[in-house]
Amino acid sequence: MDSKGINHYLEAAGRSAEWHRDHIQRMKKCRFDTIAVHGVYSMQEALDFNQGSIIEPVYMSTSQAYRDSDEMEAALGYQIPTWCYSRIANPTIYYFEGVMALLETYGSDVDASCIATSSGMAAIQTAVDPFLLPYPENPSRPINFVATTKIYGGTFQQFAVRKDQERLIEWRKVVDSNDINEWEKLIDKNTRFLYGEMPSNPGQAFFDLERVIELGHKHNIPVIIDSTVATPALMRPLAMGADIVVQSVSKTLMTSGFGIGGAVIARKNLTSNVDNPEMKADFCMYAKQLPNRDNGPNLSPMNAILALNDIRTLRSRIDLQSCSTMTVAKFLAQHKHVEKVEYLGLESHPLHKVASKYLWLVDSEHDEQYGKKVNRYGHLMSFNVKGGAQAARDVFDAMQRIWRATDLGRIKSVATIPAISTHSQQGEEGRKLAEIPPNLIRLCVGAEHPDDIIADLEQALSVLDGKKIISTSPEFSAGGASSATLKR
Ligand SMILES: *Cc1c(COP(=O)(O)O)cnc(C)c1O
Repeated sequence: MDSKGINHYLEAAGRSAEWHRDHIQRMKKCRFDTIAVHGVYSMQEALDFNQGSIIEPVYMSTSQAYRDSDEMEAALGYQIPTWCYSRIANPTIYYFEGVMALLETYGSDVDASCIATSSGMAAIQTAVDPFLLPYPENPSRPINFVATTKIYGGTFQQFAVRKDQERLIEWRKVVDSNDINEWEKLIDKNTRFLYGEMPSNPGQAFFDLERVIELGHKHNIPVIIDSTVATPALMRPLAMGADIVVQSVSKTLMTSGFGIGGAVIARKNLTSNVDNPEMKADFCMYAKQLPNRDNGPNLSPMNAILALNDIRTLRSRIDLQSCSTMTVAKFLAQHKHVEKVEYLGLESHPLHKVASKYLWLVDSEHDEQYGKKVNRYGHLMSFNVKGGAQAARDVFDAMQRIWRATDLGRIKSVATIPAISTHSQQGEEGRKLAEIPPNLIRLCVGAEHPDDIIADLEQALSVLDGKKIISTSPEFSAGGASSATLKR
């Protein structure tokens, strides 16, 4: 076979890249739901390469073959678009990353890219680590980052133990994140990024993001936001100027609960005081080609298709679940055994006003049903049971429809007690910082009819009246007598 020469591949790659760019521009003009359904997968691609498959194909292959040594050389030198090896990239993951970048920049002219990761925690590590390199001329000069304390328990551990304790990178803690002065007084020349989660899990902390972004950029520091609870259907921090968004895809995005995954979505040409032009130009491409190639936290293609599938209905699901959560929150707020309900959607919530500035159901103004912008506050809420830790456990143990699990964002309603689950590792002191009392129950309302969720909560709370509950646990699992399970 005659060698085609490396230029042949570079030219073909150029044409292909141009076609994909144009296609993405065409998709950018569509509405949110259309993007969520189609993403960057096109009919042309289906017919030319994928047997006409209307659903994105799943490429389970570990690696990609090349036509000849020229193509291989160009590919492995990152001179042509390639996926090489599924630790680095993969076509199914490409479709997932494409839709995430489009959804997180929806309604704006922000140019962003995405890198998928094996979990939300891997996404956070991917997002923060490139900013935490020592000063090359003085490796012992201390560095720090400024982050809120009301964050997911895993993030708390990653910051407190993996960064602060093990790597001596100081975590400067913002306790009241809606107080901009608290952020400001912690920043100095050695601050590498500002980090916040909003709404936070489970505390629903919220802050005036635009002011934090303004502050970060004034100091040439990037702003990283964990937007897992809001999802791009309710809030898109990149459009407001944030540099990086991280998502735990395991949650609302992949609502079916079939797998763990994460995503980092970063604007091109982001702000940073770290001298690394390649990283700043296209953060996700950089992470994909270098640190994550070497560290290896890539998503599995199977999980990418499962996530893609659930993302198609994201907007309508969030709307439904937000409305049901509001109904449930109002029910709980007037219940005699409930001390306090935390839901950003309730006007009584101290952060209701600031949350209402940021949390909008995307495209509601283009929706028959609404015809105007409407606020939606998501499916995460929590409530404190009167009578302390034991009372909360009694109510929790009596739930019959709502699942007891450390999970959120599911199509099914799920509850947990954060103090003994998601936030157990960080100890009493850490929980105080994160404001996690032992009688707090976190509830994530699913897509069931809210009447049935309320009925379950009503009967669960009634245990505090001294009423007996009737156990419905069968002696054996539905799988048959051979799979006898222990009676709870
Ligand atoms: C669950 C969660 C994470 C971690 O994601 P995993 O996919 O479980 O690794 C990060 N942030 C928030 C807000 C979460 O809820």
